Amino acid sequence: MKEILFLNPVFKEMVWGGSRLREFGYAIPSDSTGECWAISAHPNGDGTVVSGRFAGCRLSELWQEHRELFGSLKGDRFPLLVKIIDAKGDLSIQVHPDDAYAMEHENGSYGKTECWYILDCDPDATIVIGHNAKNSQEVADMIRQERWSEFIREIPVKKGDFFQINPGCVHAIKGGTMILETQQNSDITYRVYDYGRLQNGKPRQLHVEQSIAVIRAPYVAEAAEQRTVTAVGDASVEHLVTCPYYSVEKITLDGTARFVQDKPFLNVSVYEGEGVLDGTPVRKGDHFILPADYGEFTLEGNLSLIVSSVE
Ligand code: ZN
Repeated sequence: MKEILFLNPVFKEMVWGGSRLREFGYAIPSDSTGECWAISAHPNGDGTVVSGRFAGCRLSELWQEHRELFGSLKGDRFPLLVKIIDAKGDLSIQVHPDDAYAMEHENGSYGKTECWYILDCDPDATIVIGHNAKNSQEVADMIRQERWSEFIREIPVKKGDFFQINPGCVHAIKGGTMILETQQNSDITYRVYDYGRLQNGKPRQLHVEQSIAVIRAPYVAEAAEQRTVTAVGDASVEHLVTCPYYSVEKITLDGTARFVQDKPFLNVSVYEGEGVLDGTPVRKGDHFILPADYGEFTLEGNLSLIVSSVE
């Protein structure tokens, strides 16, 4: 049975969050809402199915009890997590562990590889990616001596940019930026530096030793993956990244296009416009999964989508 699995997002209030998630039609809890966990089976924000045969089911339950929807993939948890992030303020400068480190030190968690599609940002926006230390000793020295302006590598960013963030890569989104993030299903973050800010009168916890242990040095800029564009009907399909954990594409449609869902499952996020998918209306802010064996589908309308899959 061909069924689109629409998901109810889970919202997270953050010190650095804002109110722009309302632009997606969401009823957010406050004007400091930082994250929309849009396609998530993580225990810290497990999304539920909106309607249909599985209405009300958590995505984690579907993964456990209806693995056929996901091509009978192996694994004890749904592999991906898709978020929209609205940073009104600067996020702390952080780094994530890889699978091996997280397995050993974080109670069997996955590590975190993530990627960002920049939905919007201020005209003069920047982001933090990488660092300027020559080797691991210099990483430790610069962090322990709080030489932040020397350490941190900051680059300009604009709407439509895309970044792959591997484990061990120092990174931070700065205020005025909205992104769509596709990541491994993990919530392990080591905070390197928080700009000396206070929350409820106290600094937020830093993870200095874990950060020093996992930061890779020297930083090597990702060879900009070729963003190849293919025409499919009235759509253009732009390949953004393929890594061991996911493949991510951007689809822009003005008209009609037919596609084939032949992956174990396909995550779809509508970040602009509105249209129809096989007779079902879809619009900006919708997130859904096309399950295994969904097969051919037709999209009509004016739509911008980010889609992700695993092999
Ligand atoms: Zn991150």
